[in-house]
Amino acid sequence: MRYFPYEYRPFQREIVNDVEETLKKKGHLILEAPTGIGKTIAVLAPSLEFALKNKLKIFYLTRTNSQQEQVIKEARKLRKEYSFTVVPIQGRNSYCMLFLKEKIFDASPEELAISCRKRKKDVENGNVESCIFYKNFLEKGKDVVLYAKENILTAQDFVDRSMEDEVCAYEAMKLASSEADILIMPYVYFFDPNIRSRLFEWVNTSIENIILIIDEAHNLPDFARNQRTMHLTLKSISAVDKEIMDYGDDNKFGIKYSEFIEIFRETLFGLEEKLLKEKEDSPLNNEYLLQMLSDAFGISMDNFILFLNSLVDYGEKIREEKLSKGQLPRSFVGNLGQFLLEFFLNEDKDTARIITKDEQLMLEIFAIDPKPVTSIIENSYASIHMSGTLRPLDEYESLIFNNKIAKKIIYPSPFPKNNLKVYYIDNVTTKFDDIKNDDEREKMAKLIEKIINTKHNSLVLFPSYNLMNKILERDIAFFGNVYKETPNMSQRDFIKNIHMFKRHGGVFFSVFGSRISEGMDFPGGQIELVVIAGIPYPKPSAKQKLMELYYSQELDKNTVYKYLVHGPTGRRILQAIGRMIRSSTDRGIAIILDKRAPRFKEYIEMERSKNIEEEIKTFYSNMASLK
Ligand code: SF4
Repeated sequence: MRYFPYEYRPFQREIVNDVEETLKKKGHLILEAPTGIGKTIAVLAPSLEFALKNKLKIFYLTRTNSQQEQVIKEARKLRKEYSFTVVPIQGRNSYCMLFLKEKIFDASPEELAISCRKRKKDVENGNVESCIFYKNFLEKGKDVVLYAKENILTAQDFVDRSMEDEVCAYEAMKLASSEADILIMPYVYFFDPNIRSRLFEWVNTSIENIILIIDEAHNLPDFARNQRTMHLTLKSISAVDKEIMDYGDDNKFGIKYSEFIEIFRETLFGLEEKLLKEKEDSPLNNEYLLQMLSDAFGISMDNFILFLNSLVDYGEKIREEKLSKGQLPRSFVGNLGQFLLEFFLNEDKDTARIITKDEQLMLEIFAIDPKPVTSIIENSYASIHMSGTLRPLDEYESLIFNNKIAKKIIYPSPFPKNNLKVYYIDNVTTKFDDIKNDDEREKMAKLIEKIINTKHNSLVLFPSYNLMNKILERDIAFFGNVYKETPNMSQRDFIKNIHMFKRHGGVFFSVFGSRISEGMDFPGGQIELVVIAGIPYPKPSAKQKLMELYYSQELDKNTVYKYLVHGPTGRRILQAIGRMIRSSTDRGIAIILDKRAPRFKEYIEMERSKNIEEEIKTFYSNMASLK
């Protein structure tokens, strides 16, 4: 490779070589490398050189804005050597000036697209007031595009520059994309087939000419499942009530829509009573529900389907009416009809119907298999998948790819081994049969008390909120600052708590899978102890069982367990510990309070604790003497 903008850190040169080799072979590379190794630049630099030489485009897929900013930062370094254009891709919810100005934040992409299409047509027909930003784009959009070509902009820079000329940033982004060499985008832009085909039109390219870089790839399987998963919540059914009041009650086969909603709601409560007494979710047979509802209205199942179609048609009329008044084209009646038709008629083998009361009572069409969304990757010129926690890599490959075609590499941690110590305590467990017991919970509470009273900034993570509440309702004596993440905590309160914790220290209680356990960093001693209060195995939910059943059709029992239980649990533990070690100077101790911890020794080196208070004291006094 011709140019690398830094002195190589340990293992960066190896990553660069592996990326180059993959690109030359038009292959696929799955790599796990710890945070702090500098993998963004080690993957981007060789990919850019190769893309420019071979007239390819790079699609850099990220999950969060902070990852996007890291890519922009590294791209600016590469600008010193290469001439290229970068465009940060965002949806209308971030780039539509009109909706930003009108503070419309809850519209779906489809609603925004329909509304935008109409406004653009209005402008083209002379009604410039319908969207002044589009009118300005037609006149001055090229200036913004020129600026974006000359500079490497973050999404916020792009909005700010467009705002200066009151130009539509979304249209400017589309125009700029046609000449971009690197396009940085959220996963959805590539994996949603409709958005992807529009994106290819703007960029004027096709899948065979794209190098895909997928950052934080451990998120991809769940993201892909969520892409095809659909929900119908009780809350949205209440919105249907209101819409019928506002737009009038219609009927079909002598059934009034309001009457249907009432009986449908009662049916859901009946199913809740019957199926969800002792669990959060349950599979639901769609034919059984269809029969129940048809019987309740005394019509055939075929006529009931026609009735649902009439809801969709009625919704369409509401949407048109709203659009003509300049409102978002949204209809809850139409959405309800569409969801139920999908629920009763879609026969995809890899989807399952579920009733759940996890957050609120809802019906769900759960997509089990990520591959219908992800296997398009195999058609790209080449792809690089990277994450700090991806093992077992064969699991990722078999969930994402149709064929076993990827090269898989795990790079070791470049940080001094002594900076992290992991202990486990083997006289406690959160195993279901044991933790039901009061004494076991008391033991767990006392251990946590002992650890947090060593007075180091601590993050304590439980496998569930239920267990967290049960342990914390015991008297844990601690005289420092205490923070807690709760399931319904607003983002504002959460950020406030995090800010206070980072500033003043203390102990932060939360659960695995929460905002703090996977998405946030606490370097430089902001967290000194991570306490894992129980192994975070997946909940034995209907979804989990359905996935295990689905994969057991093609994989043996041990592999299914490794892919769906052991692997995800090991990654969760690693992710949690990774919160406090982000660079070569970060230090910390992780303590796993569960006798099952040694099962995860392949993920992380650990040793049995003999006296945890002493061990913490020794670790930090050794560290102090090294300073
Ligand atoms: S043209 Fe641009 S500013 Fe106008 S509605 Fe569409 S996205 Fe929004």
